[in-house]
Amino acid sequence: AKQRGRGRVEVFDENLDTELAHRAQVQHDLRRAVDSDELVVFYQPIVDTTHSVTLGFEALVRWQHPTRGTVPPDQFIPIAEESGLIVQLGARVLRDACRQAAAWQADLPPGERLRISVNISSVQFAHAAFIATVAATLAETGLDPSNLWLEITETSLPADLDAATAALRELRDLGVHLALDDFGTGYSSLAHLRTFPVEVLKIDRSFVAGLGSNPEDTAIVAMIIDLARTFGHLVIAEGVETQDQVAELNRLGCTLCQGYHLGRPAPAEVAAGHLSARKNG
Ligand code: C2E
Ligand code: CA
Ligand code: CA
Ligand code: CA
Repeated sequence: AKQRGRGRVEVFDENLDTELAHRAQVQHDLRRAVDSDELVVFYQPIVDTTHSVTLGFEALVRWQHPTRGTVPPDQFIPIAEESGLIVQLGARVLRDACRQAAAWQADLPPGERLRISVNISSVQFAHAAFIATVAATLAETGLDPSNLWLEITETSLPADLDAATAALRELRDLGVHLALDDFGTGYSSLAHLRTFPVEVLKIDRSFVAGLGSNPEDTAIVAMIIDLARTFGHLVIAEGVETQDQVAELNRLGCTLCQGYHLGRPAPAEVAAGHLSARKNG
């Protein structure tokens, strides 16, 4: 039994070593990637389903690794957060996305607005220079601040509600808009809603998946849509994969949708196709 016990410890150590080595390797590769063109921003349309019009896009980072192929964000964002690299990586995504949005905006008829939504990590948010970085990026790219939505999650904000609210107000003062991502999955959504200066709620795709078939999920989606209406916020459903889900969301009062049914995340040149209707009309 003693031997088996020791054996188990060794196996555990080996796994731990492998895991640590993997993380170290990813960190090393990421450091290089941040300054190269391996990091690419994909764009997924956010669609006003009543008029089939693309309102804007969510920017989603992809890592095109020379040997490992396309690495999804779930596999490197947490490592980038641990190492602090997310600050540079996030600034890079923000700049690319704002620059792209400004270029698209310039191609639209006067009065037409294009929104760009960018995910912000808690580590970026906590960084002292974050607000200055956003301001500098807007100035550099010429993007109208009101066309930028920053997506934050409840869990990514400082636990201190007053501190979080104050930081969000500073961002709002720049003229950008704030969206609460994955809404409903946090632990104190309702208290946040009362104090945070957010204007957009994004319904997590785990709730959208059960729409129409799961009564609890349907009730949660209906409640979030009602809450958004009460607070005067926009509401976007994410992970919309079927026309039935669009119909159900519309019935419940949500018209802004994002998901594979409306368009997959894609490189800028491909995503631009979603804007052609707006250019002509
Ligand atoms: P998220 O912000 O909740 O982004 C939505 C995720 O859902 C994206 O995964 C998107 O590709 C995926 N998705 C969109 N429509 C559908 C659908 O109809 N069905 C399904 N099953 N999935 C759909 P992705 O691109 O792999 O990103 C995963 C997460 O990584 C994001 O979740 C976000 O938390 C994070 N992330 C992505 N890009 C960035 C970034 O630039 N900065 C930071 N800090 N986080 C990022
Ligand atoms: Ca998001
Ligand atoms: Ca989300
Ligand atoms: Ca998510």
